[in-house]
Amino acid sequence: MPVWNEKYETMKREELAQLQLERLQETLIRVYRRVSYYHNLFNKINFDPLDVSTLSDLKKIPYTTKDTLRLAYPYDMFAVPLREVVRIQSTYGTTGQPLIVGYTKNDIGHWTELTARVLSAGGVTEDDIIQICFPYGLFTGGLGFHYGAERIGASVIPSSEADIENQIIIMKDYRTTALTCTPSHAAWLCEVLEEKGVTPAELSLRKGLFGAEPWSESLRKEIEENLAISATDNYGITEIIGPGISFECANKSGLHISEDHFIPEIINPDTGDVLGWGEKGELVITTITKEAYPLIRYRTGDITHLSYEGCSCGRTFVKMERVFERNDDMIILNGQNMFPLQFEQILTEVIGRTPNYQLIIDKKDNLDKLEIQIEVSGDFFFDEMKKLTKIELQIIKGVKERFDFIPEIKLIEPKTIKRYLKKQKVIDRRYH
Ligand SMILES: [Zn+2]
Repeated sequence: MPVWNEKYETMKREELAQLQLERLQETLIRVYRRVSYYHNLFNKINFDPLDVSTLSDLKKIPYTTKDTLRLAYPYDMFAVPLREVVRIQSTYGTTGQPLIVGYTKNDIGHWTELTARVLSAGGVTEDDIIQICFPYGLFTGGLGFHYGAERIGASVIPSSEADIENQIIIMKDYRTTALTCTPSHAAWLCEVLEEKGVTPAELSLRKGLFGAEPWSESLRKEIEENLAISATDNYGITEIIGPGISFECANKSGLHISEDHFIPEIINPDTGDVLGWGEKGELVITTITKEAYPLIRYRTGDITHLSYEGCSCGRTFVKMERVFERNDDMIILNGQNMFPLQFEQILTEVIGRTPNYQLIIDKKDNLDKLEIQIEVSGDFFFDEMKKLTKIELQIIKGVKERFDFIPEIKLIEPKTIKRYLKKQKVIDRRYH
């Protein structure tokens, strides 16, 4: 697979560290002068950005959190006047205050470069016809990848407005070779293709680049088999830039972080202590090229670890483990911490494939209760009661062994659970 930008992606670590230091110094001076939040913060802790001489000086600065960004709504974290901003994107804001981010012309240029790297590492070239099923709206997925794919020279089909049936017609008739969307959307496409009796041999699809939510290795395997493609993971969050922070290469052994634009750290999410190389914790990112919306030591809420082992693809950028846990997604049931993907793993092990499911949490007699609703479909029939009872018991056993409590299992009709752009696997009724 080609490396999009060899100069930066395969840079020697010492040179990279020097580049990061120079860019960090510039960024710290910029935020001190232009963002009142950082100006006041640096004054409060007696931090002079002109004194920064090593990368570890960054550790003197407190973390920036999502709450800080919300308090700055709408534009108080911007480091340039609005006349220099050429694009505004935001999180959906389904819960709480949305986070609004801005981009200057240079920011858009960098973002384009970053998503071109992601696509290129996933095998996309100028010969590809790429179908983008991420929405083109406030959400960063659509426009983010669109620019990168055009920069590569691929033929871009911005098809997210089409309904799922039409997306399949486009995929077939326009001979799409590469697909980018959320893994949930890819799984949904697989389901509809199966219903319509369209086989992968009738499609020209060869590669899939999926991101914007945690997804399991077993789901990757299923999507790869059902679509007859190679699927890579990529990672990005709106607050930092959108897609383009990190990406898998063909080795699929972790996601290379574009360290010429971002400095990653891993911290203990409870104490805030910085953890050593290889230790698992919350990912913290400092942007070092952003002009409109630079963030210093931003707590992403995502749990991962970093690996500095070399990669045979030639890229020297550090790799982060795939994100399977988002601090925001954590469920606390009767005092125990758990993540939706842990349940998905149990269901996949028992059923042999990843079902459509939902976790419903409620309170009964002051105790937290979990109901796992699973759609019964395909080779997993309603009439085989004996088989279903056995499956229910195996799921209960799996959950009991892992978390020491007994869930209720409810098998439901196919297509009962609503499909979303992103997974909404947990419904918590305890506080409503
Ligand atoms: Zn690699």
